[in-house]
Amino acid sequence: MRVYNTLSKRKEEFVPLEPGKVKMYVCGPTVYNLIHIGNARPMIVFDTVRRYLEHKGYEVNYVSNFTDVDDKIIAKANEEGVSAQEISERYIAECKKDMEAMNVRPATTHPRATQEIDGMIEMIQTLMDKGYAYNVDGTVYFRTRKFAEYGKLSHKNLDDLRSGGRSLLVTGEDQKEDPLDFVLWKPKKEGEPFWPSPWSEGRPGWHIECSVMSKKYLGEEIDIHAGGEDLIFPHHENEIAQSECCNGRPFAKYWLHNAFLNIDNRKMSKSLGNFFTVREISEKYDLQVLRFFMLSAHYRSPLNFSADLMEAAGNGLERIRNAVSNLKYIMENSSAGTEQNAASEEVVLTSAEQDILAGAKAYETKFDEAMDDDFNTADAIAAIFELVKYANSNLTSANSKELVQAVYGELVDLCGILGLIVEEKEELLDADIEALIEARQAARKAKNFARADEIRNQLAEQGITLLDTREGVKWKRA
Ligand code: AMP
Ligand code: ZN
Repeated sequence: MRVYNTLSKRKEEFVPLEPGKVKMYVCGPTVYNLIHIGNARPMIVFDTVRRYLEHKGYEVNYVSNFTDVDDKIIAKANEEGVSAQEISERYIAECKKDMEAMNVRPATTHPRATQEIDGMIEMIQTLMDKGYAYNVDGTVYFRTRKFAEYGKLSHKNLDDLRSGGRSLLVTGEDQKEDPLDFVLWKPKKEGEPFWPSPWSEGRPGWHIECSVMSKKYLGEEIDIHAGGEDLIFPHHENEIAQSECCNGRPFAKYWLHNAFLNIDNRKMSKSLGNFFTVREISEKYDLQVLRFFMLSAHYRSPLNFSADLMEAAGNGLERIRNAVSNLKYIMENSSAGTEQNAASEEVVLTSAEQDILAGAKAYETKFDEAMDDDFNTADAIAAIFELVKYANSNLTSANSKELVQAVYGELVDLCGILGLIVEEKEELLDADIEALIEARQAARKAKNFARADEIRNQLAEQGITLLDTREGVKWKRA
């Protein structure tokens, strides 16, 4: 598998630090508002990377933070007259709802900056002790000049940056030794949340948060660090400087960055005001269509959002769903194969059917090849369409149930790797639910707890939660 590494500006063979395991950190959103579909691009893209890595057999430890202390959060809190925490809690909850609706799986851990302040103070202290940081009146800066490799990720010429450096300065930062120095800790202003530290009562800078959370949940050295391309400089460049100077070893092996989601060829962003929230889009479209639309382009290509492209995505997804439901219908109307394995008595495919299956499997290989080439979801989707066409023209109810089932499974699985739900949800009737609950009670009575749990999970998958109360088992739909 080859992945494009921003650090080397080329595709590299993917070799994780530890065989079979991947440690992956994705910079998450600042939570002061509902997320827009530009923010959704890295979520969908890197969730798909994670799913593909798991499909390849890797155990993925996936960490994605919430930045829950920031000027914008504080401004919003002041506007509403509530605490910053109330704002961030609210929008974390909303973000999680949007993620679920886009079928973006929760991370292994979703750390929040405000809960990791001790670790940040510790890292800043280490940087001070090693001479990489200095304190001016309670503000602590990183001494960029001391890190010889600064600029290696963004491939920037530091002298050029320095000469244009005045523009990098923010008001109040003119005490810096160098225009490229950045803030690790800043003193509180009136009405802002703050934490005690050896330097001042205040709060951490944004970049130190990710260095610390990545270290705490994944270790000093990780496999993949990812985010949108606007984070390359200065955010990720600064993370590298902090982590490598603190830990004395490389930070992340592969740096992956998604290109922007644009509108009229301009980046969709809160500040330009040219955005749609995921919530708004969900009122007009099935969010699976949004996911399909995002994955129809390679993650490193800019993607322009338009109603026409969303319509095309909707039609494409519909074509796949039709093929899936058609295969299901065929499966229900076909008979079991008649050839059996003499020893096991299992049904085996006739040699003609084995050929048909091999034809279908060729598209799975194509899919994997596309994904192995820097997660080329656009080509992977093309392989799915070819499989759809193949299934539509090669399978009928004259085929054995086993063959149809195999092709059906392949199609659903390939879509599943992209996080696309293409099977119709079968609504459980109330009576079915009651029957399953009774079966679960019986299993528990018989001390068959494994079976009881299985039934609970089966119901959970259909959005049914069970509540064991004193009056018996109650249930509700999500
Ligand atoms: P923010 O909340 O602005 O820090 O953004 C959270 C994530 O969304 C970061 O990885 C950004 O790079 C990414 N992002 C923001 N806007 C866009 C966009 N228009 N297209 C793609 N990614 C974006
Ligand atoms: Zn980050």
